[in-house]
Amino acid sequence: MPIDATLPYDPANIFARLLRGEIPSTRVHEDEWAVAFHDIAPVAPTHVLVIPRGPYVSWDDFSDHGSDAEIVGFVRAVGTVARTLGLVEPGYRLLANTGPHGGQEVPHLHVHLFGGTPLGLMLAR
Ligand code: 5GP
Repeated sequence: MPIDATLPYDPANIFARLLRGEIPSTRVHEDEWAVAFHDIAPVAPTHVLVIPRGPYVSWDDFSDHGSDAEIVGFVRAVGTVARTLGLVEPGYRLLANTGPHGGQEVPHLHVHLFGGTPLGLMLAR
């Protein structure tokens, strides 16, 4: 069920629990600013989620309230993950679903990183 991205941050959300190590994940990268792990229900050969360590509901929340250091650290982490996974030369796609129209389901900012195959059109026409 898509979430209301304007709600306050819920520290019990699934990615907050994953960050605290309360639920398992297959991590592919972690640093001071971000953690990246395989999506539990992948829709591409590579489907990784990158999340900031800070408590941000959505891209909107993060881009408005994140510190410059958090934003730089997170963006660099996304790029590092793509390079580490060997996705740069064949190419990849980033997606940050935001709010109900975006179809966001987990209320902690996450960037989907898709790759490993030609990904086709951005949206169905
Ligand atoms: P959204 O629709 O919010 O952009 O995407 C949420 C994503 O989180 C979905 O692709 C879903 O498969 C993934 N997901 C939901 N719960 C878990 C979980 O417990 N572990 C992992 N690794 N991924 C999850």
